[in-house]
Amino acid sequence: MKYEKDYYQKIGFKCGLEIHQRLLTSEKLFCSCNANKEGDKLPIKIERTQRAVVGELGEIDKATGFESMKGRRFIYNTYKDTSCLVEIDEEPPHEINKEALEIAYLIAATFNASLPDEIEVMRKEVVDGSDPSAFQRTMLIGYGGFLELNGRKIHIPSIFLEEESSGIESSDSEVVIYNVNRLGIPLIEIDTDPEIKDPDEAKEVAMRIGTLLRLTGKVQRGIGTIRQDVNVSIKDGARIEIKGFQELEVMDEIIDNEIERQQKLIEISKKLKERKAEVGEAIDVTDIFSNTNTKIIKNVIEKKGVVLAARLSGFKGLVGMEINPDRRLGSEISDYAKIAGVGGIIHSDEDLKSYGISEEEISNLYNRLGIKENDAFILIAGEKEMTEKAISLARYRAEYAIKGVPPETRGIDSKKNITRFLRPLPGGARMYPETDEKPILVDHKQYEEIKKSVPSIEGIESRLMNEIGNKQIVEELIRSPKLQDYFYIAGKIRGDYQLIAITLLQKMKELKRLGKEVEKVSNDTLVCIFERYKDRIITKQAFEPIISAIPRSCADVDKIIEEQNLTRISGNKLVELVRGEIEKGTKQKSLIISNIMSKYRLNIDGEELNDVVDALSKVDK
Ligand SMILES: [Zn+2]
Repeated sequence: MKYEKDYYQKIGFKCGLEIHQRLLTSEKLFCSCNANKEGDKLPIKIERTQRAVVGELGEIDKATGFESMKGRRFIYNTYKDTSCLVEIDEEPPHEINKEALEIAYLIAATFNASLPDEIEVMRKEVVDGSDPSAFQRTMLIGYGGFLELNGRKIHIPSIFLEEESSGIESSDSEVVIYNVNRLGIPLIEIDTDPEIKDPDEAKEVAMRIGTLLRLTGKVQRGIGTIRQDVNVSIKDGARIEIKGFQELEVMDEIIDNEIERQQKLIEISKKLKERKAEVGEAIDVTDIFSNTNTKIIKNVIEKKGVVLAARLSGFKGLVGMEINPDRRLGSEISDYAKIAGVGGIIHSDEDLKSYGISEEEISNLYNRLGIKENDAFILIAGEKEMTEKAISLARYRAEYAIKGVPPETRGIDSKKNITRFLRPLPGGARMYPETDEKPILVDHKQYEEIKKSVPSIEGIESRLMNEIGNKQIVEELIRSPKLQDYFYIAGKIRGDYQLIAITLLQKMKELKRLGKEVEKVSNDTLVCIFERYKDRIITKQAFEPIISAIPRSCADVDKIIEEQNLTRISGNKLVELVRGEIEKGTKQKSLIISNIMSKYRLNIDGEELNDVVDALSKVDK
């Protein structure tokens, strides 16, 4: 976190989280398709076009050429086992998955929420094509909850059970290809009130929610199974929804950069107001470039494209002002233009000559656009229809710069840890009842029972302390997504708890960093490895080569042990080795040990070797 805690209060920092977590059920929410595997792609593809609903995109829909998005085609890949007619909206939803509902109740209880008397399944409109039906089913299952963190209550006003969306396979300005194998997996959404005080607390709350969810043991794990959206604003700024946090480690840095962006945009807006800034109409300036040497523009004109420009009165120096590392107001304007499909914009705060634009062309542009002392301009070249849309989007964004910060949904640039424009923030999503589903009557007695089975962090902590005995490892494990793996493996091995924890937390991470695909090694295979260790077939040192070879089964583990000569040397064999070394005349204990270990590092347990050497020395004396 970049600033002192009270600084965030001073700037009117407001922040709330939306956590989305896939549940661990055998079937999907409204059909019997498998909810835990990829499934095999079928050769059947479904194609749909959808109309974005008027008003859903807010005023930008009227103001600009956002309708370019409406024309996109959507193609859906279908799957064996993991999709059926329900996903592609050719069959009504089946009865709600009881297992998912029960997990949702458990999660509601975990966050101290109340349950309504009746749960109504609703349809929420989806405009990005990620659902072939153009809506997502969702239901409020909990309200008025909270979690406690460092003695503070963070309120959780609502918890929803809903359908996961489709995954994107690929997308461009014309076609988006979706995979429906993911669509309809039960998903829980947990919303906090916007009362988070600073970026560090946002990170802590996100981690705590993740931990509490995992403690239920009923949620999916792995990349993409939990997603954090952060809503953030500052005084005089605007609400920005930052989507798709994966690495919580950098959450505070990303939020700090977003604050900085909003602050700079507010500063720009103040200056623009002082200068009485205005955005001019789009003007066709293609003819100015009829003999141009500028490559990009020349290519466009050869293809019968156009060059459009707009004056930005009072914008001089501000379009090029840095608002985030290596990002300017010009980059934000460019991001809007790109929605129409163009590569970007050129603006007058840049070195125009570096594009190859000549003095004469520049002076003609100045005259045509009527550029005065404090003015800037933007320029876009491309196919006519696309460029018209692009300049209207760019003008819309430039106009908003006078007003301040536009409310947006933004994604994450994970290289720079900054936010990037995705789309305007939609107005409240439209919802209407799903008439194919009956309301669900809540059994409050059942809920009271479920409440009793909620695991507490304190309870888990003391159990882990008993097993592992090291506070630091225990704390790390509780925060880690590996906790469920630990419970699974420890439950089967019943011993060697610290070794299991260290292997999961450290060894696997190290090997992953070395490029090994350790996530392919299942928990059952890991259980085999620990069993071989417990049965004294291998040593701890053999874990690394075995896991590195990515075994897929117990048979694989045994094969690797044999092929790589990893069998443990102990008992009489070890005694013989030590004797041999002593007979060679080696006297010093440390030398005996190092001579043997240098040859059999992976096969011998250091402690056992030490004991054998001690025992033999005594006998020999
Ligand atoms: Zn299905």
